[in-house]
Amino acid sequence: MAGDLNTLTLHEAEERLARGACSSVELVQDLLGAIRERDGLIGGYLAVNEEDALKQARAADAARARGRRGALLGLPVAIKDVLNIRGEPCTCASRILRGYVSSYDATVVARLRAAGAILLGRTNMDEFAMGSSTEHSAYQLTRNPWNPDRVPGGSSGGSAAVVAADEALAALGSDTGGSIRQPAAFCGCVGLKPTYGRVSRYGLTAFASSLDQVGPMTKDVRDAARLLKVIAGRDPMDSTSLDEPVPDYESFFAEDLSGVCLGLPQEYFVGGLDTEVEKAVQEAIRLCEKLGARIVEIRLPHTRYAIATYYIIATAEASANLARFDGVRYGYRAADPRDPMDLYTRTRAEGFGAEVKRRIIFGAYVLSSGYYDAYYACAQKVRTLIRRDFHAAFERCDAILTPVTPTAAYRIGEKTANPLQMYLGDVFTVPTNLAGICGLAVPCGFTGEGLPIGLQVLGPAMGEPQILRVGYAYERAAGWGRRKPWRSGGAGPAKEAP
Ligand code: GLN
Repeated sequence: MAGDLNTLTLHEAEERLARGACSSVELVQDLLGAIRERDGLIGGYLAVNEEDALKQARAADAARARGRRGALLGLPVAIKDVLNIRGEPCTCASRILRGYVSSYDATVVARLRAAGAILLGRTNMDEFAMGSSTEHSAYQLTRNPWNPDRVPGGSSGGSAAVVAADEALAALGSDTGGSIRQPAAFCGCVGLKPTYGRVSRYGLTAFASSLDQVGPMTKDVRDAARLLKVIAGRDPMDSTSLDEPVPDYESFFAEDLSGVCLGLPQEYFVGGLDTEVEKAVQEAIRLCEKLGARIVEIRLPHTRYAIATYYIIATAEASANLARFDGVRYGYRAADPRDPMDLYTRTRAEGFGAEVKRRIIFGAYVLSSGYYDAYYACAQKVRTLIRRDFHAAFERCDAILTPVTPTAAYRIGEKTANPLQMYLGDVFTVPTNLAGICGLAVPCGFTGEGLPIGLQVLGPAMGEPQILRVGYAYERAAGWGRRKPWRSGGAGPAKEAP
């Protein structure tokens, strides 16, 4: 199947490399071919360094020939442009970081390299990961591979789009309030938001430090488990990373779900949920039941406060984190400043986009004296209530099933005029980050128009083994992952079912 190696999963490609059925150079060549053919339309990559990727591939092939092994040896991975890669730009899709070249590797990037992975390119995103559609990138639009008139989701929309379009085998994203799971759901791939502290944040450009996590975006659940195993674990450079052993997540996989108890929160099946999405998720729940899972009703009563709580805490933290972009230390600097104040204000006014400015202003407001208690302090208390809801729920079940998003991917431009409309789409993903727990998005069907729908599997802190087990058994039985937006040969987005 030379010429089609880009359509493989990581584990399929690894198996071929191991038995000498293909080389890493061939793998990279096929991916570069798909990128050349499609990325002009999709716009998922901000940069692909063809020469460098081939050089890394040649080195991996040579290392393999010498007997080296590694979990990801010779396997290309795409990286969201919010993660620092030594010697490469890291723009966070912002004008303010244009021209900035990173002097170090994020820990997750260093761990990929140590496992032998090839860094294929940097993917587009919403500026500083603020957004749900990738329309807030300062550089380019990314289109949904299933329908180019639709958004890919965000903020890790580039990573999701390149995985779905077979322009990458797998990618890394970051998730502060849904930015891995929501674009995975919109593009029909798998996305995992790890437990807070499971993966090091060192070298992840900070948006909201108490919520941010890096995680895998892949074509199937096995690949998510593999990538997580490589990137997870204690890192002395991130004091919030947890000192817990990293299990072999695949060893928990089973073909059925016997002995597993799954909770359904009634608060996630309410008005505003699209009927096609609801139907697909209900069918997924029935399939899990057939696979042997016991289903129980649970309550997460503070869910309705989650959006407000998230947008107060996330913007407050963002306003502090983004104070460092002042024209002195990083990237863009306004021309001919009169004095330091002029330098700061014009650099920030010219360097940040509208959504980032909106959040900085909002965050500064909720932290300002006189408003702090009414907004920020109150949001922190509600965050505790949301966390307690999940604690209580996980006394009764092993994992929770919900939709990832209230609707499938919307039209480009549909929600940009009304930020609140866009924020409301995060209703099912932000509680996970507020509670610090883990969540997995797995494809669970398609709308009548052929747009992917996602099932969310939530687990308690360090519950990755059980959510991956549930996701694996469901995916295997349901088989949605076999459908592709692009036929091999590159005919363009498929119109009908294969
Ligand atoms: N869509 C959410 C927001 O705009 C989440 C973003 C994220 O997870 N980085 O804040």
